[in-house]
Amino acid sequence: MFGRGGDLVPPMITVHCASCGTKLFRYQKIGKGRLLHCRKARISGDHTVRREEDDGAGTVVGVYCPRCGRNVGVVEAQGINMHGGTFTVTGSALKK
Ligand SMILES: [Zn+2]
Repeated sequence: MFGRGGDLVPPMITVHCASCGTKLFRYQKIGKGRLLHCRKARISGDHTVRREEDDGAGTVVGVYCPRCGRNVGVVEAQGINMHGGTFTVTGSALKK
């Protein structure tokens, strides 16, 4: 599916904490647009910390920066639901 010809290889981006710049994980981003949902299968090199918490409606698993402890998202069935504004991304997928 991928790999036959360089242009078809999905670009990897790196997701950093917006507060302290710590690398959180690398992600195989497919398609343009904002990064809001990260699929588990495409995440690699994950450095985030997971912690169970109660959001008022039930127990959820929060995703935190390993250095400063900022809450950057929440675990969902397919992967991670990222909180906008809590992270920055670098990588080739950002090219328009
Ligand atoms: Zn941080």
